[in-house]
Amino acid sequence: MSATPASAAAEAPKWTLVIHGGAGVLERDRITPQQDREVRAALAQALDAGSGVLASGGSSLDAVEAAVKVLENDPNFNAGRGAVFTYEGKNELDAAIMDGRTRAAGAVARVTRTKNPVSLARKVMEDSPHVFLSGEGADQFSVEQHLEQADPSWFATPERKRQLDEMKAKKVGWYDVDLKYGTVGAVAVDAKGHVAAATSTGGLTGKRWGRIGDSPIIGAGTYADDRACAISATGAGEYFIRIGVAHEICARIRMTGETPKQAADAVIAELGTLGGTGGVIVTGPGGNADWSFNTPGMYRGKATSDGTRKVAIYGDED
Ligand code: ASP
Repeated sequence: MSATPASAAAEAPKWTLVIHGGAGVLERDRITPQQDREVRAALAQALDAGSGVLASGGSSLDAVEAAVKVLENDPNFNAGRGAVFTYEGKNELDAAIMDGRTRAAGAVARVTRTKNPVSLARKVMEDSPHVFLSGEGADQFSVEQHLEQADPSWFATPERKRQLDEMKAKKVGWYDVDLKYGTVGAVAVDAKGHVAAATSTGGLTGKRWGRIGDSPIIGAGTYADDRACAISATGAGEYFIRIGVAHEICARIRMTGETPKQAADAVIAELGTLGGTGGVIVTGPGGNADWSFNTPGMYRGKATSDGTRKVAIYGDED
């Protein structure tokens, strides 16, 4: 997609939704036809869920939560059910959500029992005085808020266990396993021009020592500000944290006048110079939505009120 010309801005769509299901070495010869079909179907379902909210006049916040929940429930993605395993063989889930209207935000890290961690992040935002809860305390808060609980076995899939075993056997680094970051995320702008972002992940295969990535860190993997844009990221989290990728993109838009695409490309290029890989989805309040990634592919999709609707996996699909 190219930058939105000024003439088109006047006809900006009423609402826009962009989703991702992770970036990585997603190439045609590495993905089976069945995986390709399943992932596209799940992305389409997530687009349906989020755009249903937006089309009926709902908020961008509700839309991003609805879209992310669909992907959390699908074992093809590294979030909720199908999350990657820690070194100790557990699933520890991270998620964040942010409202660009007020810059209210909520996030959780290392939760183990909430069926949809993105909804727990939203509860933190709306029903606690805090922004970021972690571990046992976050699990406890989830029960107190009456969110749907799941036995830890709900999140565990044989394929993710196999990936952990492979990592341990090969003694490869975190970023070498499979090279598919299956984190999920959504950004949206609603008919009132408010943006929102949400991200959910299991983190990295074999993560240890209580490691937390960028996804639940406000400003790194997730950010939303009506004055600039909404961002959700996927990739090698440590690099995204160091750069403050999501906030950096919003700040560039706000302070330099760059379009979302220009700002996202610039920050992803900077990420690459430090050795980081991954990508972001972005939308401005005018609906000028896009994505940027420096990996061969990214699971992604876009829907707008003017009828645009697409899902894509490989880098050459735009
Ligand atoms: N960014 C996530 C993390 O580092 C991983 C991913 O995108 O899949 O935790």
